[in-house]
Amino acid sequence: MDLSIYDLSDGEFRYQLEQTHSAIIPVGSLEQHGPHLPVSTDCVIAEHIAKEAARKLKYFVFPVVPYGVSFEHSPMFNISVHDSTLSNILCDICISIAHLGIKKIVIINGHHGNMGVLQYVPQNTFEKMPPDSVVHVINYWSLINEKFDHAGEVETSILLAVKPILVKMDKAEASGKGLMKSREAYRSMTCRPGSFPELTGNGVWGDPRLASADKGNKLLNEINENLLKTILELG
Ligand SMILES: [Zn+2]
Repeated sequence: MDLSIYDLSDGEFRYQLEQTHSAIIPVGSLEQHGPHLPVSTDCVIAEHIAKEAARKLKYFVFPVVPYGVSFEHSPMFNISVHDSTLSNILCDICISIAHLGIKKIVIINGHHGNMGVLQYVPQNTFEKMPPDSVVHVINYWSLINEKFDHAGEVETSILLAVKPILVKMDKAEASGKGLMKSREAYRSMTCRPGSFPELTGNGVWGDPRLASADKGNKLLNEINENLLKTILELG
């Protein structure tokens, strides 16, 4: 049975709570992903990965939190909340469900710009949750060997595997500018609002023309396998 919170009644939730005390919350973003991918890309991928893991582990799965911190994509499409807003939303959700009886909460993050905020959710919820409840945070791209991109080969391949109808391969184009600096330099530079379109020219990091559903399925298998292992390691 799919333990999607959306589909359960109060009674069903309470019954299922006798079987599991664990839940997964996917977190995404709404931001430009080049001319070929939808702004919901991070949400769709995070929710897909979360549902897959929850089904296998028989955990509850929550609806995706769609709003993230994406100021770096301005003036291209982004709906951004401030770091404190995202932190407050996620901390309130975690505290609320911990008081319902969920003891292990795993947040699956689908957007790089949310990392800084998510890192402190366990700390900021610690004193407000029952002592036997814990929050963990996993960035899904850290579960693959491939270097991650933005709307490039990796992310486009994953979306082609998850929901091909959302991908317009005929519109796919490589980064508008050569990205020759070190990853650490770009990591720092992309923290600044408006930096991403400036650095890439077209909002794409990598070359999505190399993407395929086959590559996406291989990446998803690697993610799913490593995610299950990691969640079980958390105890
Ligand atoms: Zn993305």
